[in-house]
Amino acid sequence: MARPTLSLVLPIYNEEEVIPELHVRLQEFLSKLEVPSEVVFVNDGSKDRSMEMLRDISKGEPRYRVLSFARNFGHQTAITAGIDYARGAAVVVMDADLQDPPEVVLEMVAKWREGFDVVYGKRRKREGETWFKLFTARWFYRVFAAMIPIEVPLDTGDFRLMSRRVVIALRALRETHRFVRGMVSWVGFKQTAVLYDRPGRFAGETKYPLRKMLKFAIDGITSFSVLPLRFATYLGMLISLMSVGVAVWAVVAHFALKATVPGWTASVVLTSLLAAVQLLMIGILGEYIGRIYEQVKGRPLYTVGDKVNLGKRDTDELDEEEGEPQ
Ligand code: UDP
Ligand code: MG
Repeated sequence: MARPTLSLVLPIYNEEEVIPELHVRLQEFLSKLEVPSEVVFVNDGSKDRSMEMLRDISKGEPRYRVLSFARNFGHQTAITAGIDYARGAAVVVMDADLQDPPEVVLEMVAKWREGFDVVYGKRRKREGETWFKLFTARWFYRVFAAMIPIEVPLDTGDFRLMSRRVVIALRALRETHRFVRGMVSWVGFKQTAVLYDRPGRFAGETKYPLRKMLKFAIDGITSFSVLPLRFATYLGMLISLMSVGVAVWAVVAHFALKATVPGWTASVVLTSLLAAVQLLMIGILGEYIGRIYEQVKGRPLYTVGDKVNLGKRDTDELDEEEGEPQ
């Protein structure tokens, strides 16, 4: 079967309120496209009617394919699965809640045709997000970029187009804790941005509460940097130096000044400070060790419960002609 030119990958987690409008917008978009295309929905263990709705809209529409997980595995894993199954010469990952407007995809395709391998959507404005999310996202990406040795674009999410050779390179990265936007930077190739205004979510609530955001941020840092571990070393050196100073001071105070005070306050402050620092550093070690543990188990990243209009995982063969922009 010939490869479609374009695959859209959409992760779906409890999106029953969005699917009818998403369907309308996708149909409109696909009719405008002049190239063969497919839409790969990844149902990430939704507990609402999302799966039935996806099944319904895929009935008379062979371009719609659904991969349904056996449970919820998280957004980053859902994207990964979509990338594993997408057959297009270019693959676009986008949110299902219409925060990533299908129309921007046309601009991405144009850039791809110019010869870029990755075209990411860079947010110019973001509507409908809390100030807390805007503030933390802004700072997280700046700190993250400063910490890691590879170049990552600022103010971008997972909305991006990838050429088939990027997709194939990405499929080889089977890490358990996934920060897909960083992994796309890591594989390299020619990358560029298109600017867009990100509207608010069409309906429903964000599926990224604070708890998940925090985990996502820590996954991002730990999978691209060992700087937090090195921080423990540096802090250890600094405190060692300071303790030499304190020891000298204690000896001088005892023998020369004969001023040996009870020293209760200093003891309490130093003990609790050191205990806190040590626990923090053990915590950082634990973050890495826990991730090593989960990685060495070597489990598959997801389990598939059901499929609609979808065959086996795509193969990684790069056909010269098909891998190139058409
Ligand atoms: N999503 C998912 N699994 C999850 C959480 C989210 O597949 O565990 C999907 C969700 O349906 C949406 C996309 O990932 O299509 C991004 O989630 P959301 O829009 O809630 O995040 P936000 O835009 O608020 O950061
Ligand atoms: Mg969203």
